[in-house]
Amino acid sequence: MSISGGYLDKLNPQQRRAVEHGVNDGRAPPSPRPLLVIAGAGSGKTNTLAHRVAHLIVNGADPRRILLLTFSRRAAAEMARRVERIASQVLGQSAGVMTDALTWAGTFHGIGARLLRDYAPEIGLDPAFTIHDREDSADLMNLVRHERGFSSTESRFPAKGTCLAIYSRCVNAETALEEVLRASYPWCAGWTTELRQLFASYVEAKQRQNVLDYDDLLLYWSQMAAEPSIAAELGGRFDHVLVDEYQDTNRLQSSILLALKPDGQGLTVVGDDAQSIYSFRAATVRNILDFPAQFSPPAEIVTLDRNYRSSQPILAAANAVIELASERFTKNLWTDRTSAERPQLVAVRDEGDQARYVVEQVLANRENGMSLKQQAVLFRTSHHSGPLEVELTRRNVPFVKFGGLKFLDAAHVKDVLAMLRFVQNPRDRVAGFRLMQLLPGVGPTSAQRVLDRMHDAADPIGALLEVPSPPRAGDEWHRFVDTIAQLRAGTPGWPAELEQARTWYEPHLERMHDDAATRKADLIQLEQIAGGYTSRERFLTELTLDPPDATSDQAGVPLRDEDYLILSTIHSAKGQEWKSVFVLNVVDGCIPSDLGTGTTAEIEEERRVLYVAMTRAKDSLHLVVPQRFFTHQQPATGDRHVYAARTRFIPSALLKQFEKRSWPLVAPEQPTGPSFTRDVRIDIGAKMRGMWR
Ligand code: ATP
Ligand code: MG
Repeated sequence: MSISGGYLDKLNPQQRRAVEHGVNDGRAPPSPRPLLVIAGAGSGKTNTLAHRVAHLIVNGADPRRILLLTFSRRAAAEMARRVERIASQVLGQSAGVMTDALTWAGTFHGIGARLLRDYAPEIGLDPAFTIHDREDSADLMNLVRHERGFSSTESRFPAKGTCLAIYSRCVNAETALEEVLRASYPWCAGWTTELRQLFASYVEAKQRQNVLDYDDLLLYWSQMAAEPSIAAELGGRFDHVLVDEYQDTNRLQSSILLALKPDGQGLTVVGDDAQSIYSFRAATVRNILDFPAQFSPPAEIVTLDRNYRSSQPILAAANAVIELASERFTKNLWTDRTSAERPQLVAVRDEGDQARYVVEQVLANRENGMSLKQQAVLFRTSHHSGPLEVELTRRNVPFVKFGGLKFLDAAHVKDVLAMLRFVQNPRDRVAGFRLMQLLPGVGPTSAQRVLDRMHDAADPIGALLEVPSPPRAGDEWHRFVDTIAQLRAGTPGWPAELEQARTWYEPHLERMHDDAATRKADLIQLEQIAGGYTSRERFLTELTLDPPDATSDQAGVPLRDEDYLILSTIHSAKGQEWKSVFVLNVVDGCIPSDLGTGTTAEIEEERRVLYVAMTRAKDSLHLVVPQRFFTHQQPATGDRHVYAARTRFIPSALLKQFEKRSWPLVAPEQPTGPSFTRDVRIDIGAKMRGMWR
């Protein structure tokens, strides 16, 4: 009999089997057989994983030897909180101490960065490495493109973003360049040789500058884990490795897990193939489907079939949508959460009306006692929330936006962070170049010259101090160099150095921006955020990997007990749930998005995106269908407002699952586009558009 709390009694038999798997006689031995929990949305996978971690700890597993991999840092923190709550039922007060020791909970990238710093000396990496976000990576790719002479405008060489995307896909999918080009970038195939040279130079540049990009965190980790002299030690560090949202991992991530636990012992993964929505980042649903057979004996499989999240009508509609998918492993779910309220399919005239409709409903819900935090608005792409953000601001409704344009992407914040990065790693050329370009009188050529000299020197900061000031830079050059030298020497120390960096930056801020005062407030907010981190290195790493969310409030992130509405891309809403969910732009062209190439695989993934969106809702779900919407594609007419049709994923046969209505009830102008409320049998409009797909 294992030690258990009342917590086991709340689980259903399958969940309980997953939680207790490999725990014998009240002991959690370090090497139970591999376990796969595969089940649909809201069936309690994440909850089961939290219970399993708590159960392992309660039964004697060492929390410092548990590696818990989640999809975001927010999800890791939430998981740790849940584990503590569950474990405290048995351990009481001491549960907090135990779960505080659960230090290896985070994302693949975050954990990778930490392990790489630990092992840096053994793998020839300088532990002071800095991490490039996507924008920095694209800048570096661009720099290398120029250096190699590939970027002349008439040559039509792929743009920096495309180059980076191709490179990233090769790395994450562990696939050869030719294959990636053939499958996803056929129009670039003529450049195979040049791209290969470019990527070689890009890799060299990163190594010279001691920077890692996002992909490197996984790539270096997997290489390190496969190294025989390190593999055993690394794998031996963790008794249990548990992964949530396994359907969205890529080949590289699965090879990391396999290198850590070659026989799968102690490995638990959970996921849902019907929610696989990250193939654009080379995630592959094969990982989850092929998981059991990788091991001998094969992994234990637990499936869950009861949904605890959504009311019956919402679940039925979501099931109906995913049932039309061409391929799927997990079965449909059932629930006993009856409700009379069907999900709503709401026709509105345009995105302006859509915004007004949503705000009105959200406020009505609040009137009826549902806080803003229990509601969320989801959309396919970050910019779709523009009109809604305006309307919310106008009506004074606070909101937080997940997965959107980040506070950290603002130029002034990036400038100050570049200062910290350059101090941390003076070989980081993208950071150095950015800073020197702020100085009046320092052009790109002189900046490159200085960076070259730093690069060739054994002591780059020493070299920087000795470089004569570029002729027209004068005092500003000295102020810059002195600040770097001071921060590098450790005065005034962390986190006060951020204030020092701001003091250095302020004259530039005032010279460059009319709204310097607001921007300065952002920088002060950055200092407050920095106060929560123990070191510059930790701050830079975590901020780059998982930046804070954007908010409606100029003063920054709302306090925990404040009430605010969540705005999120569907991708960032993964794993979460709200009482009431609104999905914007449920039209063809948005879901499925018209930005892809329109292959069957891509369209199928978009169907899963809609499934993920719908299954976030507990009690109330509104899918909004504007009859006219703004497109980023340039249509032949030149008018970027196009008439839209309801998403093809809700064909007429499924309309009975929904309550259909238009808003405003009596439209002042009749929409001229195809009306979705009519039960069209053949959607000619969609066919016509399809001819051009
Ligand atoms: P997703 O696929 O969206 O990630 P999931 O399968 O991870 O969903 P959870 O988020 O773990 O599902 O659980 C969904 C909801 O169901 C949560 O509110 C959770 O507390 C609740 N739940 C899970 N299991 C049970 C149970 N045995 N009894 C009551 N509620 C449960
Ligand atoms: Mg989950």
